[in-house]
Amino acid sequence: MKHYPLACVDGRSLPYEQATVPFEAQALRYALSVFEGIRGYKLADDPRVEFFALDEHLARLLRSLQLVGLPTVDVGRVAAEAKGLLKENSVSDDCYLRIGVSAITTGDLNVAPTVCTMMSLQPMGRKPSAQSGQRLSVLISDRRKPSDVMFPQRAKCIANYAGSRLALLEAKSRGFDSVILRSADGLLAEAPTANLFLIRQGRLSTPRLSDGILDGITRDTVFRLAQELGLECLECALSKDDAYGSDAAFLCGTGLEFAEIGRFDDRVLPGAPGLLQNLVAAYFRSVRTGDSSRHQYVSLSGGGRNAD
Ligand code: PMP
Repeated sequence: MKHYPLACVDGRSLPYEQATVPFEAQALRYALSVFEGIRGYKLADDPRVEFFALDEHLARLLRSLQLVGLPTVDVGRVAAEAKGLLKENSVSDDCYLRIGVSAITTGDLNVAPTVCTMMSLQPMGRKPSAQSGQRLSVLISDRRKPSDVMFPQRAKCIANYAGSRLALLEAKSRGFDSVILRSADGLLAEAPTANLFLIRQGRLSTPRLSDGILDGITRDTVFRLAQELGLECLECALSKDDAYGSDAAFLCGTGLEFAEIGRFDDRVLPGAPGLLQNLVAAYFRSVRTGDSSRHQYVSLSGGGRNAD
């Protein structure tokens, strides 16, 4: 993986190689680490690179820390340090910022954790699947995500990825490009690192936060763009049959951006010509204008992101 030479550790610039977590840290022993991935986009007709939805990502970082019971950090400072890191590395093109807040204290579960905030940058353009316009084949896994009753699925904590990885490995070994995990109740949830949308008769639908998903920032952006484009968009319980009966579907997330799904299991989707293309075009107009912070990010469900 290529990366820019300077990283940031608790506000200090260091060579990337020195941004490490000790072997005995609680982060590695008990998965006490939360993180964010944020894209920086080169603005249109402007030499600057700006992070897209930085405030929303940092608000989620804070919620993740609160949800998993780690000390919180000053996100205002983190925002300033992230912008400083762009400058120090002379970043002039699309990139990806990774922020990790990890318990670096050693010892058992009784030890009160102290956290360290680390950031690094890497160059990142479109993913190959997005570039080629490839439509993904997606397995709907029998694996279920743990219930929020056990551990909050909307915390972006490293503890939430090991099961999804297993599901992905299984899907890949069966020749699929990606996988959808299901909720504890067997409803559609999300891909390992992206949210799911179905399209039927020109309407968008997506699983609810209570179905054990991450409250994706790209998902929220889709809500906003759908509204601007006059598309109906619903958060609701979705079954395997809803996926099989959809006209089209897509995954979205910060790193992936957008990827159309061409097939769930052995069911080929007919497609919804133009709809996703319009949405994606609107997305790129938005991310390259550098105005993301003036948008209101709201959950469709009315209860807000923190609703049960
Ligand atoms: N779900 C999971 C589990 C993820 O890790 C991600 C990537 N952050 C997403 C969904 C998409 O979220 P976002 O749009 O905020 O990147």
